[in-house]
Order: sequence, then C-alpha cells, then structure tokens
Amino acid sequence: MLEGKHQIKHSDVIMQLLVYYCCLDVSQNQQAFIDASLKELEHILGKSPLSLNYSFRQLPTDLKNKIDFDADDLFKISDNVVRILNQELKGIRALLKLLVCTEYESGLAKLCRNYDKSAWWGVSTDWMAVVYKLDNKYAIWHETLHLLGAHDCYRKGKDGQVIDRGPTCNANCVMVYAPSEETVNIKKWPFLCEKNLCKLRKKFDHTAKNK
Ligand SMILES: [Zn+2]
Ligand SMILES: [Zn+2]
Repeated sequence: MLEGKHQIKHSDVIMQLLVYYCCLDVSQNQQAFIDASLKELEHILGKSPLSLNYSFRQLPTDLKNKIDFDADDLFKISDNVVRILNQELKGIRALLKLLVCTEYESGLAKLCRNYDKSAWWGVSTDWMAVVYKLDNKYAIWHETLHLLGAHDCYRKGKDGQVIDRGPTCNANCVMVYAPSEETVNIKKWPFLCEKNLCKLRKKFDHTAKNK
C-alpha cells in the first residue's frame, strides 16, 4: 500500500522542466562552481516538500551567440533573451527564462548595478536573472529561484529600489537580502518561507501544464 502511495506522489513529478543558464566572461573555476551549485539546487528542489523536477542546462553556444548581451539597456537584453528563447525553444519543455552568470566587473553586471544601486550581487527582470557574485552559491540560488517564481523577502518601492532590507519573513529563507552562510542555514531544507514554497509550486504547475 505504502509503495502504491509513493508511486502516485511521484507521478506528479515525472514532468520535467528545463531551465537554461549561460556564463559570460567567467573563469574555468567559476564555471565549475556555477555548474556544481546548480546541480545541487536541482537535487534539492527535487526533494520533499517541493519535489519539483527542474533540470538546469547550459544554453547551447549557437543560441547564446544570438543574444546581444552588449546592448546598452538591461531591458533590451531581457527582451532579446525572451524573443530568442521563444523562437528557439518552441515545443521544448523549458522555462522561457534565462539565468546569466557573469563576472562582477563585466559590462552587464555594471548595467545591472546602474539600474539598481542596491543590487549588490544580482538582479532579476521578468525574463532573465543576472548574478555576478559568483563565489557565493546563496546568491546564485537566490537569483535562480526568482526565475522559478520566488519573490524577495525584503521591501522594494514602486521603482524597484530597496526601501527596507527586512527580512519580511521569519523563516530560514534564501530570498532575504544578500543571503549568505551567516543568514541562511542551507543544511535545513526547505530554506524558503511558506509563501515562496507556494509560489514555486504554482509556477511549476502553471508552466508544466501550459507546455
Ligand atoms: Zn532578489
Ligand atoms: Zn522568505
């Protein structure tokens, strides 16, 4: 009986969604760290109580080359990303959003910090998340989780600027401002508040169903 129940539970999980990421101007060591961090997150998200079957993949080079990351406006780049992904990933069970990992001093990272002065380590738009604190997997996970539906647990004004660093939740949650080893215990899963767990589930169900 118990086995049967487990099987039913797992049938919800069979549907897999790909999430693409790409690395711009990163060293080999950074690349290895990013790959390992995302592998780890993929594994963690698959565990109860979320059991979401995401698979993180590097964006193929030919696709990456089609995106103009040198544009002088963050939203131009973001629009470009979603257009290319929509064109190229048609029919593929994938989230049409992109995680971009880039060097702290890259043009894109500077563009992000210009747009939001309080964005120390990363920024997310509707279609793209950019992370440039590449030695901190908490930062990589935080920006990735935005793509998967999580919201910040600190307050922002209408212009997107931070007005209160919070945290606005009282859980062990990686969506706090500038998450690190000091503020989040990743040994205790789920390291997300109830509100964000809910958002992640909804996002997965909605995207998977509409594919
Ligand atoms: Zn955030
Ligand atoms: Zn939270």
